[in-house]
Amino acid sequence: MKLHTLLISPAVVLALSLCATAQTSSILGFTPASSAHESEIESKFKSVPSPDEERRQHHIFTSEPHVAGSKRNNELADYIAEEWKKQGMEEVVIRRYDVYGTNPKSASLEMIAPTHYQAVLREAPLDADPDSKNPAISGAWLGMSISGEVTAPVVYAHSGNPEDYDLLLKNGISVKGKIVLVRYSNPYSYRGFKALTAQREGAAAMLVYSDPQEDGYKKGKIDPEGPWGPEYHIQRGAITYDFMVPGDPQTPGWASVPGAKRIPIEEAESAPKIMALPLSWHDAKPLLENMDGPVAPKEWQGGLPIEYHLGGERVKVHLKIEMDNGLQPYYVVEGRIRGAELPDEWVVLGNHRDAWVYGGVDPSSGTASMMEVTRALGQLAKQGMRPRRTIVVCSWDGEEIGLTGSTEWGEQFADELRAKGVAYINVDEATSGQEFHGQAVASLAPMLEESTRSLQDPSGKSLYDAWKATIERERKEGAQSSQFSDSGVASESLADTRIGSGSDHTVFLNFIGMPVLGLGFVGDYGVYHSAYDDFFWMNHFGDPGYRYHTLMSQLWGVTALRLANADLLPFDFASYAGNIRQFVNELAKGKDMSKLDLSEVRKEIDDFEAAGRRLNQSLNSKLKSGQLDPKLALQMNHGMMGVERNWLNADGIPGRPWFKHILYGARFTYAHLELPGLTEAVEKQDWATAEKQAWILQHALEKNTKLVNELNESLQH
Ligand SMILES: [Zn+2]
Repeated sequence: MKLHTLLISPAVVLALSLCATAQTSSILGFTPASSAHESEIESKFKSVPSPDEERRQHHIFTSEPHVAGSKRNNELADYIAEEWKKQGMEEVVIRRYDVYGTNPKSASLEMIAPTHYQAVLREAPLDADPDSKNPAISGAWLGMSISGEVTAPVVYAHSGNPEDYDLLLKNGISVKGKIVLVRYSNPYSYRGFKALTAQREGAAAMLVYSDPQEDGYKKGKIDPEGPWGPEYHIQRGAITYDFMVPGDPQTPGWASVPGAKRIPIEEAESAPKIMALPLSWHDAKPLLENMDGPVAPKEWQGGLPIEYHLGGERVKVHLKIEMDNGLQPYYVVEGRIRGAELPDEWVVLGNHRDAWVYGGVDPSSGTASMMEVTRALGQLAKQGMRPRRTIVVCSWDGEEIGLTGSTEWGEQFADELRAKGVAYINVDEATSGQEFHGQAVASLAPMLEESTRSLQDPSGKSLYDAWKATIERERKEGAQSSQFSDSGVASESLADTRIGSGSDHTVFLNFIGMPVLGLGFVGDYGVYHSAYDDFFWMNHFGDPGYRYHTLMSQLWGVTALRLANADLLPFDFASYAGNIRQFVNELAKGKDMSKLDLSEVRKEIDDFEAAGRRLNQSLNSKLKSGQLDPKLALQMNHGMMGVERNWLNADGIPGRPWFKHILYGARFTYAHLELPGLTEAVEKQDWATAEKQAWILQHALEKNTKLVNELNESLQH
């Protein structure tokens, strides 16, 4: 029986966590003998990463700004390639993609009425932080803004969501031809969706600012005294409409290898058609405090000591943005440790390299952790401990622009990845604090949870217990109320099985159909995408001792090694079925759902779950017996890899053909969206499409039930 099926009561959980710490316990997917061997390998691996090395690497990656396409970011690609070769990584190559890039030339914002104010558009240096004084730090800009110049009145449009514009209209305020001032929002909503909404509403430009209520002094002490954003911090970012199709906007669905066919930028669905600029609250305040119009509703008031108005007439600004958008090379660094026994089964690890400025947390904490993973993998290989399967590691470029490097790489190798890909493990922001958050497709949730039991959190607990404490606290606070609102597998599991977009796992899950994991330690973090997200911040607030960076390297390595070395891949399809049932239950609560018959879908879920349970039992008894024919193992593993692929629908979800996964998608805000095609049709009350999408789901379930049953039968013989 699998561990997760025992997670019924807290007492059982406790008992399990006690026995799981014993070295003799067996590991999901391993025979007793290979479990013991795997534990030995993992111990060796875990002993390599060190806080000093994590800090040293982190310092290298955060020493200069390194935005996508910059000279420094390309030098770092060379640096990674050279280091990997020294560490013992194999077949290290730098792959070039010629993509539509984005760079700032100049920007100015001037209030011309009712009083004059010239926006600073730069971040003030902090005495305590030498890196904040670097003249190479960029001013305010948003990736993929268009160039232009406009003089117009300013309207305050809260978070810039469609319902915000409805409220403005109710108050008689149109934003057509005007400049909208919106704020970054909590919970996070992707700024690109704000830009698209402003564009659709006919606004001439969008200004987006960081209100102190979201990430500044209203949350706590500000940098350099605390982790929150100071007065001048600017959240840069891209506004690419990559929720429509990620990657290079001119090559939707194929790779931007040099010479590839390109569509005109005017026809590119993911290229914004609006000017946009980010502001610190220092620059937003003069605009907000001079606005006329009705007083904004209570929820629209922010953390500044002023009364927020809707505006629309009195405040006029002159905005000018000059961009340098066009073709430029991005570079993905790729290295691997060739598998000793199954070189054509790949476990892929990735982290992006490009940063808005220094990228202290995002992404350089992940890059430092990655460099310690590769060092440890290299050492093991040199000592003859080569993984059974191949481990591929990639340093992505242009994640911040449109998930660009990973998308182009994934599109280039899509066929090979669909044949060979076991799983993808993403680490973007490795460490902004001490609380672990793990994401996994539901079939890998049990193995991720099990992996955390073998690691020690700096608090002294096992990482599993630390994670559990975090989840239980969040559950109490209702912070993840949606995740735990329903009974089902997700409510018993620690892993977050609701996977949206916004990082490099997207191409692997949504386009290729590979199972994904996402790992990160989080904490109070108010300097996201600003110049203050740097080495100083990490050493004072994020992870001063680099212990969580070290733990991340260990965890990343252990999960990769388990997937790479397992006798039988640790996929749990009963867990997957339980999760899908939960998604359907949530959908069924929607309006007018009597118009959609989901009984066949539910029946298929039950069948898939039963098949998954039977397979779990057979796999476990097979593993326990220790008798495993390599040919049979190969057949089983390839079959199990096929399950995730079967969740793809070649036509994609309605309106977004690139997004092919029928269980996982993302909203335009990047937020997770389960059963995306079906859910969106139900939300639109488009019952014909909903019926078709339900049919697609039903057939995918049927196909996977058949596949799992066949695998189970092969195992019996
Ligand atoms: Zn990132």
